[in-house]
Amino acid sequence: MYIGKVSALLICLALAGGAQAQTGWKAGAAKVDITPAGPIWMAGYAKRDKTSEGIRKNIHVVALALQDETGRTSVLMTFDLVKIGRDWGTAITDRCQKEFGLSRDHVVLNSSHSHSGPVTGYAAPYYLPLTPADVEVERRYTRELVDKSVEAVGQAIRNLSPATLEFGQGLAAIAVNRRRVRLRSLPGPVDQDVPVLCVRGPNGELKVVVVGYACHATALGDYQISADWPGYAKEEIEKAHPGAIALFVQGCGADANPLPRYQGTDPAMLHYSVELAQMYGKILAAAVEMELHEKMTPLVGPLRTAYETVDVPLRPASREELQSALAGSDRLQSAAAKQLLAQMDKDGKLPDQYPYPVEVWQFGKGLKFIALSGEVVVDYALRLKAQYGWDTTWVAGYSNDVFGYIPSVRVLREGGYEGGDANKDLGGPFGPAVEEIIVEKVGDMMK
Ligand SMILES: [Zn+2]
Repeated sequence: MYIGKVSALLICLALAGGAQAQTGWKAGAAKVDITPAGPIWMAGYAKRDKTSEGIRKNIHVVALALQDETGRTSVLMTFDLVKIGRDWGTAITDRCQKEFGLSRDHVVLNSSHSHSGPVTGYAAPYYLPLTPADVEVERRYTRELVDKSVEAVGQAIRNLSPATLEFGQGLAAIAVNRRRVRLRSLPGPVDQDVPVLCVRGPNGELKVVVVGYACHATALGDYQISADWPGYAKEEIEKAHPGAIALFVQGCGADANPLPRYQGTDPAMLHYSVELAQMYGKILAAAVEMELHEKMTPLVGPLRTAYETVDVPLRPASREELQSALAGSDRLQSAAAKQLLAQMDKDGKLPDQYPYPVEVWQFGKGLKFIALSGEVVVDYALRLKAQYGWDTTWVAGYSNDVFGYIPSVRVLREGGYEGGDANKDLGGPFGPAVEEIIVEKVGDMMK
């Protein structure tokens, strides 16, 4: 109903003529604070052994609503959080359908993968020792997160006004392939592209900047809540352009870290963590600034959207393997095995595939935005950009449902953390078909 009214208004604007009306776009953005009110366990690192001690910087959900000339609205939401939980992500998209008429393919959720945000969900993450009281805090936070996210979408839609969209692709050297830290002989591919989507108002004023980068948000590792370096990047962009709202979209940075980084406890070294997080934020903001000063490509509609899931194969562990992991000395293996054995008792077996969401948005011929789920390694971004165009393709990871690592065939062969060790709670590593299945699915959806 609401969308219908907006599209009627759009037709009026189109009839009124003028340069902006001709592009047909309307855009609106909103930023809502999601900083936890009190101490809460923090997500990302298994080494943490207590709840948060304070707030370094507030964290946010940011929503960008885009309406093309057909009058259909799509919303990109970005979160200063380690992941998008399937449970609460679905709660948000269900409410977006009910309250704003947005079908699933018109909403993308992306998490920055900040390791300095709170845990989210309705159960304890297997890698942290939450008490039942801690889980209650997590649940309350998650319910509020869902409410605030829907509120952000509502505000963004109410803020829709005539706009132009432009896209450009810069470069910045923050990401280092982190697998080389453990295995020096490995190749170290990285995706250092800085995709930038900017939204301008009728007089050319900058209203929204969406910036992407593919690298873990892990410069920080203490007990202070923040959005890590992507948060500093957004802050720098907003400082340089008062009134504009910045969004950060995490790419296929599963095997990349910002390096150097300091995660030890030597008091003489600790200052490096915050300084480096700020510096990486400044570097990304500088790359954005340079892109904004270039001639960016205007984007025309329509915005075509698709959302589908595809089953990717898992190789589940046997009961014997899980029992030996449970009894073993590795705390994380044991905790994951406990959870999986309970699941096995309940369901009779462990799943041998995962329903993997893929979402594609095409902005006319100017930009293909591919949102992949999970922690996706760099090979997917490089392969898809080579296939669909380096200057016109944006591959996001950490979108819609972030449940574990998505290795490529190369990374599976090499083994190591991203090759399967990290997916302890999934019941087994992915099968080698994972890469072809996902790439093929994207191909189908591009058509
Ligand atoms: Zn990660």
